[in-house]
Amino acid sequence: MVADKNTDQNHEKHDVLKSTQTVIHKALEKLGYPDEVYELLKEPIRMMTVKIPVRMDDGSVKIFTGYRAQHNDAVGPTKGGIRFHPNVTEKEVKALSIWMSLKCGIVDLPYGGGKGGIVCDPRDMSFRELERLSRGYVRAISQIVGPTKDIPAPDVFTNSQIMAWMMDEYSRIDEFNSPGFITGKPLVLGGSHGRESATAKGVTICIREAAKRKGIAIEGARVVVQGFGNAGSYLAKFMHDAGAKVIGISDAYGGLHDPDGLDIDYLLDRRDSFGTITKLFNDTISNKELLELDCDILVPAAIENQITEENAHDIQASIVVEAANGPTTIEATQILTERDILLVPDVLASAGGVTVSYFEWVQNNQGYYWTEDEVEEKLEKVMVKSFNNIYETAQNRRCDMRLSAYMVGARKMAEASRFRGWI
Ligand code: GLU
Repeated sequence: MVADKNTDQNHEKHDVLKSTQTVIHKALEKLGYPDEVYELLKEPIRMMTVKIPVRMDDGSVKIFTGYRAQHNDAVGPTKGGIRFHPNVTEKEVKALSIWMSLKCGIVDLPYGGGKGGIVCDPRDMSFRELERLSRGYVRAISQIVGPTKDIPAPDVFTNSQIMAWMMDEYSRIDEFNSPGFITGKPLVLGGSHGRESATAKGVTICIREAAKRKGIAIEGARVVVQGFGNAGSYLAKFMHDAGAKVIGISDAYGGLHDPDGLDIDYLLDRRDSFGTITKLFNDTISNKELLELDCDILVPAAIENQITEENAHDIQASIVVEAANGPTTIEATQILTERDILLVPDVLASAGGVTVSYFEWVQNNQGYYWTEDEVEEKLEKVMVKSFNNIYETAQNRRCDMRLSAYMVGARKMAEASRFRGWI
């Protein structure tokens, strides 16, 4: 969520696509697959770049750049969110689409991975400008997306309203009401109960399972959450409700710290729709200080490249659970693992969102809707099973959970591609 100089520098220094490719290569090697499997999986099979002209409120026309990456569709249609952010790049969208493939493999959904992004800053745009941009993007990518081809969803700075506009635009093009085109919709338009909080629910389940393995009780555990957007804010609430002490939170502008525990309900009440909260306070700490706070559980829930070789030695937590996509670099993963810090990787920890997106799509396809309890019960089963699988694979293969997660995710894609006769 941070749109500042530090983030730009981090992006340049830590190439997320390259590091994802490195881990995929390692995973496929450990599984004994030949080189052509890596050649197939190292980049998306399809990448579309579009220009979107948008009439701004002042009458001028602004041309926005958007992307849609489809990583691999051997398992099924591709699936993944759309990000609206000034730092979106082609490389980042490619890496994010690969992570979606891995997530879908890890929680065993019948999808491949996709991802979209538009270079823009929605914080500086009006409601109607955002609507025109959202509709323009769908018109631009309409040929390659659809309920059985590629199904988008929310991501950083996009929400259920944006999904609703996109669904409406696609339905007009398709000349049918097509709720299964996109997930993360409002309930009245075929959204699913529990979708909005699903990523945080999945992270909460991973924290509980990881804490059991480390012998840490959730009741009274000191938790730090970086990012107060969709995942971070719900997560802070779930941890607070479970009796943990949330001692630190942050947004794009800074962090708040209280060793006795922050008043999460108050902060939730005062945050804006982009998760901004710290501007209301004078006494803030930097994001760097926040990550290095003395705590039991650290949850990076913002953006990429936050824990790097520069600060990995200073992380105090015993457990790091990645709610964001790509918050820890490969070098930092190694340092944390050597320091015996249990790291639950993004491709597992944040898979609750796409899991409930899958439930939403299933409900749209069958036209029959489930209760919140049904959704929660099904999500719980998927997350616990996936956590155990990745944890045990890591133990058996003597590797960290990121590598074992990549092995599980990549194996499904490789096997599906093999049965199809592609490799
Ligand atoms: N953007 C979310 C993610 O990164 C959700 C994707 C989806 O629901 O398809 O996992």
